[in-house]
Amino acid sequence: MPPSDSGLSEFDKHRLSMHAFQAKEKAYHRHSDFSAGAALLCTDGQVITGCSVDNAAYGVSTCAEQVAIVKAVSEGRRSFAGLAIVSDLFVPITPCGACRQVLAEFCDPRMPVLLLANHSLNPDNKSRGMKEVTIDYLLPFDTDHAQAWERRRIPDVPNDLYSLSQTIRSNCDAVDTLPRHFLPPESMSPCP
Ligand SMILES: [Zn+2]
Repeated sequence: MPPSDSGLSEFDKHRLSMHAFQAKEKAYHRHSDFSAGAALLCTDGQVITGCSVDNAAYGVSTCAEQVAIVKAVSEGRRSFAGLAIVSDLFVPITPCGACRQVLAEFCDPRMPVLLLANHSLNPDNKSRGMKEVTIDYLLPFDTDHAQAWERRRIPDVPNDLYSLSQTIRSNCDAVDTLPRHFLPPESMSPCP
């Protein structure tokens, strides 16, 4: 299993692990009796967590790592440096196929992913309780994928919508796709 080359510090690894464990405690596991937690490290240092959320209709249950990604993106964050995932299992958990696709949409192919076992914070078992892989390892792509990801990467969303609308207005083709209530009045005129 290839090591990550992202250079996550030991401090960040420990921090992500702790947050993932804490997130797991919030899991809603009424139907599956299976809890998972995830912690996503943003490039600005903030950690966004997620937990698994069961549903009586199993198909719409949500995985912890997807919750973390959706929370982050809904807050305007799209730039990530690492992820940790943990469950109740005593072996490192891996993301399901759907989550791998979601992670690949927003994460650098070289981003490290810490796969934790439930006992990985126990010093006696630490070496067997954690594996570190990359997004690219979890969902291999063709050789052009890294370049394709760079092309579609979009920076964090500006906080104020006016800035956002101005950014989008710079591309006239995109203006027509933006809901009109996002646009300031002067943007309502046709593109020059
Ligand atoms: Zn999943």
